[in-house]
Order: sequence, then structure tokens, then C-alpha cells
Amino acid sequence: MSAKLFRNKGNVSIADLKSTAGLRSESCCYGRNKNDASNIQIRKIRRYKERSETMGQIALIHGNIIPMDGRKRYSAVLAQDGKITAIGGDAEIKELAEQNKIEVIDLKGATVLPGFHDCHAHLSLTGFDAQGINMYDAGDIAEVVSRLKEADETWPEGRWLYGMRLDEGLLDEKRPPTMEELAELKRPALISDRGGHYVIVNQMAYDALGMSPEVEGVRMGPDGKPNGRLQDRANKVARNGFPRSREEVLEAMVYTGQEALKKGITTIHAQEGFTEDDPAVPLLIEHMEDFPVDLVIYWCMMPDYDEPMAEKLGILGGDILLDGSIGSRTAAFFQPYVDGDGGCGYLNFSEQEVYDFVEAGIVRDLAMSFHVIGERGIHTALDAYEKVMDQHPEKIDTAKLRLEHFGWPSQEDIDRAARLGVRISTQPAFTYLRGGPESVYRSRLGEEREKAGYPLRLMLDAGLCLGGGSDSDITPLDALLGIHAAVNPPYPENAVTPYEAVRMYTSEGARCGWEDDRKGKLIPGMQADMVILDQDPMQVNPQTIKDIQVLATIRKGSVVYKKEES
Ligand SMILES: [Zn+2]
Ligand SMILES: [Zn+2]
Repeated sequence: MSAKLFRNKGNVSIADLKSTAGLRSESCCYGRNKNDASNIQIRKIRRYKERSETMGQIALIHGNIIPMDGRKRYSAVLAQDGKITAIGGDAEIKELAEQNKIEVIDLKGATVLPGFHDCHAHLSLTGFDAQGINMYDAGDIAEVVSRLKEADETWPEGRWLYGMRLDEGLLDEKRPPTMEELAELKRPALISDRGGHYVIVNQMAYDALGMSPEVEGVRMGPDGKPNGRLQDRANKVARNGFPRSREEVLEAMVYTGQEALKKGITTIHAQEGFTEDDPAVPLLIEHMEDFPVDLVIYWCMMPDYDEPMAEKLGILGGDILLDGSIGSRTAAFFQPYVDGDGGCGYLNFSEQEVYDFVEAGIVRDLAMSFHVIGERGIHTALDAYEKVMDQHPEKIDTAKLRLEHFGWPSQEDIDRAARLGVRISTQPAFTYLRGGPESVYRSRLGEEREKAGYPLRLMLDAGLCLGGGSDSDITPLDALLGIHAAVNPPYPENAVTPYEAVRMYTSEGARCGWEDDRKGKLIPGMQADMVILDQDPMQVNPQTIKDIQVLATIRKGSVVYKKEES
């Protein structure tokens, strides 16, 4: 069904409505003329705020409305003052709408779901990547270098070259370029790997960043000199040192919020602030009210426990790397990587540090989370959660425990997480896009372990709360792709049903952020966040879920995105 079908003689249709955020013509400026784009974005934020106060009511009829509250379906829904006020049959809703002088929109059979939640995304990184030079499909090092050279000739003076999504496993050489291979560039250059675990810099960037062999993570070549690869602390220093103004950071995050609306996402669990002087979290707090989507903000570092910012967020932790990634062989396992030097990955914090951090959060009634991928990383986090709960039994009913990713849990730890009520923010597209027999997961972990990754079926069967997310920009900010991935993983034993997958991005997504008292379902009293789709994900051929089109996105009862008619 095309958006054109919304046109309905004599009646108002979505095609006639203006979206409040005014996104389409302006957001395309992003990344081309940075100063202009930045002004536009900031102006737009202000305007959105003014307008949002006057909006928030809508009546939808002749739809396939799925509230995600059991298996019920309705044909019509009414929202007033930003909240769902009635759901039911066409005649009933039409009458209510007319009484309240609310325009009635004819959906012509389109499907409506609660607005999607992306339970783990990096707003600033996603925005920066939209500006960067894509290296993901570069075939070899020569191609990486030639893309950088082309940008070197054309980018405005003074701007550092930023390459991104480099996946060394996909290059012919199976390694990233060295500093020497980037010697011809005339300005500082930095290339980010796809997982965010290291960067490659040229000599000019290395010098400008103040790097030296003493900085932890500066890797050496066979000649004993730095080879341009910066991991661990050096990786953080480099990412943080990449010159960007506060305006550029805000602009990047707003861009990501607007892109999310195009995919029907109305709430993002933002993972930001990896270093002390990263302005992202303070900027988001400042702009929370007028941001394009709702935010649950995770501050991804171990701060002073009495830091007022953590109190303000209600959360301690988030994508704090308790372990690392499979690609860089840093996710922590009890068994070694099969293609490495016998290492099992490692933890970035001691058990005591993890315990102290968790206890500090629990006694302050803050939600807790860590990044955990490998079996040992997961085990260590759960040990700390379990021990803290043993020490503080008075918190057992109220503690907000969560973990990010949860890639390779043992069955005992799946059961233990369920027992402790730990909510899991996971990313189905990881294995869908990056798993399978030909993958880096397979070569690093061997067949048996690779197949056991992200066992969503076992997790749901154990009763775990699973929230779906993208980890954007690692996989695309696209909830329907995530739903598709959960239904169609590389190995069918890990698959969930379309209904279960939709729950991960709606009602369970809201639970994963402790927002299920006001979001995630279309029932009276809930925030009127809705996505209108051209197909029903529970009825289409499951292998085509990813092709479903978002026709419009409604946030707090206002149309904030409408698909261009073709
Ligand atoms: Zn992570
Ligand atoms: Zn992440």
C-alpha cells in the first residue's frame, strides 16, 4: 500500500497533514554545509518546542490498530493532549472526535503500532558517522586510502578527515591501514572501526592528539614505531580529542533523533558520554524537552557516585565496557578465542570495582547497566548484581537491574538473570547482519559458540524482559530491521515469533527503560506515540518484515514524520 491511499475524497487524510518537526527539507543539509546546518537545527529545536504545546490530538479510523496489549486489535484510536484517550470501533471514535472537534484521519487499512523504542543507540556517533567517509564496503587498503584522498581534496579547509565503519575482516589484507600508508594525506585523518574499539590515525592526527608510546593502547609496528592503531585508552583519547564544538555534537544528536522518527522510533535509550569532557550528556539534559524523540539517557562512565548528573538521570551506568567485542577479541570468555593467541578476552574492571559501583547505584535507587558480551563478562556482572541484592534484601522489589547486549550467556546465567529480574537490552541485528558460517563471529569463536550467540529464544523462554535496540551506528537505527532480525536469525533455534519481536521494540522496550507505566502500549492514559505502517508485521511473510514501510510517525498525538508520497 502506498501513502497515496491516505487520500480520501472529502475527508482529511494524513497526506493533508503537516508534520510538526518540519524535517524533510532541512535534515538533508546535514554534513554538507556544517555551519548552515547547525543554525537550522538549533532554530528547528526551538520551533518544535513552541509548536508542540499546541498539538497533541488526533483521531485515526479504518485502521488495523494493534495496541500490543495481549492479542487485541481495533480499528480506531483517539488521542488528546498527547495521550491515548480512547480505542475501539470506527463509529464510536468518530463520534468522540467530532464532539471534541478533532480531525479524523482515514487510515485505509494501514497498521498502527505503539511508537518503537530503540533500547540502545549512540546518538552522537550515529550523527558523526553520517558526515564521515564510509569504509564499510572498501575492498582493500588502496580503496580506503583513495577515499580519504578524495575527501582531502574536497572537504573544507581545517576539517579533519573522518573515516568510519572500517571492518578489517572485510579488507583483502585482513588488517587496517598503517600510519605509513596514510602518509600522503595533507591534513589530520582518523578512521574509526565499526565496533568503536579502535581508531587508525595518520601522523598529523597522532601529533595533534598529543599521542606518545607511553599512552596505553598505542600500538607499535614491527619497526618498533607507532603504526597508527590506537586501542583502549588511546582510542578514547583520540575519539575525545577529535575536534568538534558543542554545537556540532548537538547537531549530530538532533540529526539522529530526526532519522529515528523516519523509522517510527519515538523513544531512544541514548548511550552517551564516554569521557569526562564529552558534552553529549549535559547537552541532552539541557535539550531533553525539545529533542525530536523521547530519551532515556545512559551516561556511559563510572562517575563519582554522588555526581548530581547520575541522580538527575536516575541511572548509573549503561554502555560501560565491562568487557569488549568479538571482533577485537576483547569480549571476556572462560574459553580462548579459536583464532587468537590463546587469550580469552578480558574485563576492564575488577570484581570489586563492579561490586562497589553496583552497590552505589542500588542504594541510591538508580537503574544500573553494563556492556557485557562474552560469557565471563555476563557472569561477572550477574555475580555483582546477585551479591549486592544479597546484601540489600530491602531493595529486592525495587532494584532496577539491566544489562546491554548479553551475547553469550550460559543457561545458568540466563536463569539467574531472570531470577534477579534483570532486564536485557539486546541487538538482534548483530547476528542477522554479522553472524553465520562466514562471519568474524565464526572465525573467532568456532562453530558451536558462534551458533549459541544471542539466544533470544532461550532468553524469552526463561522469562527475561528483552528490549530491542540497534547499537546504532553499529547496526542501522531501524526497528523494523531489528524485528526482522529477531524473527530471521542465522540459526532458527534462536528465532522469536513476529509478535514477540514487535514486543521487544514496543511494550517490552518500554519495560526495559522502566517506562511501561506510560509508554509501549496503545491503551487509554498512555503517551500517544504511534507508528503507521503499510503492512502488518504479524501478518506478512516473516521474511519480508524488513521491507515494511513507515508511512507516518506520531509522537504525543502529533504527526512528527510523514513519508513523502512517491
Ligand atoms: Zn556496548
Ligand atoms: Zn553501544
